[in-house]
Amino acid sequence: MTDKVRNYKIAIVGAGPAGYFTAHAFQKAQSDYLSFSIDMIERLPTPWGLVRSGVAPDHPKIKTVSNVFEKIARDPSFRLFANVELGKDVSLKDLRDQYDVVVLATGAARARKLGIPGEELKNSLSAAEFVPWYNAHPDFVNVEVDLSSDTAVVIGVGNVAMDVARILAIDPSTLETTDIAEHALIKLKQSNIRKVLVYGRRGPEHAAFTAHELRDLTKLENTDVYIDSIQIKEAIKHIEEMDEVEKDLKNNIIAMKAITEHKKKNAVRKIEIKFLSTPIEVKGAGKVEEIVFQRNKIENGKVVANNGKFSIKAGLIITAIGYDSAEYPGVTIENGRIRNIAGHVEHNVYVVGWAKHGPVGVIGTNKSDSTYVVDLIIKNLRDPKTSEGLTALLKSGHEVIDQTAWEKINASEVVSGEISGKPRIKEVDWIQLIRLGKSR
Ligand code: NAP
Repeated sequence: MTDKVRNYKIAIVGAGPAGYFTAHAFQKAQSDYLSFSIDMIERLPTPWGLVRSGVAPDHPKIKTVSNVFEKIARDPSFRLFANVELGKDVSLKDLRDQYDVVVLATGAARARKLGIPGEELKNSLSAAEFVPWYNAHPDFVNVEVDLSSDTAVVIGVGNVAMDVARILAIDPSTLETTDIAEHALIKLKQSNIRKVLVYGRRGPEHAAFTAHELRDLTKLENTDVYIDSIQIKEAIKHIEEMDEVEKDLKNNIIAMKAITEHKKKNAVRKIEIKFLSTPIEVKGAGKVEEIVFQRNKIENGKVVANNGKFSIKAGLIITAIGYDSAEYPGVTIENGRIRNIAGHVEHNVYVVGWAKHGPVGVIGTNKSDSTYVVDLIIKNLRDPKTSEGLTALLKSGHEVIDQTAWEKINASEVVSGEISGKPRIKEVDWIQLIRLGKSR
């Protein structure tokens, strides 16, 4: 590096995929003239965001991206400050003053609501509660999940709905070698649920599933998956009439057709994917007992009611209909996202990932998006500030989980898992996580 090197202090808030890929984009942009000191701030005592608390336990391959995150974290330009909450331990204004750039990578953790009567009944849950519950997120350990009925209903036909349906429907013994939360595995082993009905309000051609995930459904060992073959035939006809068909849509429909043709095992465990049905009421005496649907048809591309109502007896409903960004002091939420123009929020504050563009795309999507925002940030850089950064802002004695502390937690979880043939056993208790991080 030459004397002319300019070092900028970057605060990235949120240690999920968008945060790490942003850090990586800054690292890649360093040159003889430009360097970055990156502080990643995370509310939880553990990093990795949805890779830890979102990705389904039976999808271990997707989680290997954490190796990439750890490589990014070991670069000398990077420091982790986990167990530090924006809005509580540190304000956005303070970060703005101390850092040259603040990048919000805080995701979208708040469940969207159906807004129908009965949605607040017991055992009416959202994927935003159920998924972190089975993934050992410390804030969701005590979510009450009652699996005593034989039928569960999942609303939404995206990949999160599919994860939820799979976890409910598959034989829990197949989850024993995964990193699923111990409390969830115990509950799933006692579960009476044998039928999981997944409902979309539009047709198969509008489903948000991806083909890879659909194809995996035919590989389930002890669970049969059903999709209405007439609806799939109609969808095929529909796309054949289209002038141009997107590759992803075509692949999805082919994958759904394969499910209809796939030989069933007469398994007791079933997932049934249904379309053109909108939930309009959840009924029950204090707890979910029945879900009322309106049948739909698509007219001029819009969902319209058609052919009356029907109802399903079920003791559990889980909505997987998307997420909004959570509010915290200093940001404005607009259409479920942090208000921004192409990633710029205001002053020296930027946003990336789901907090920027909403809950769409897979983990890898964050790579190009973060690079795009970092390019914009670099174009807008002025003279570097001289400031102390986060350490000057935190109260003395604040228990920061830094990279070294996190590596201790990580190693301890992996070692606990090895004994039981699992990739790791996740610690769910916040205080215990901090203890592990501070252990010698
Ligand atoms: P999503 O893909 O946007 O799917 C949301 C679903 O909810 C859609 O079917 C949507 O139907 C439906 N919906 C929305 N509002 C509704 C309402 N009021 N009533 C009934 N249905 C409603 O969202 P997601 O499943 O939460 O996934 C988020 C992102 O994470 C996606 O990009 C997904 O691919 C990704 N992800 C990937 C994986 C993986 O790669 N294995 C796993 C999980 C998640 P409409 O289309 O009709 O609005």
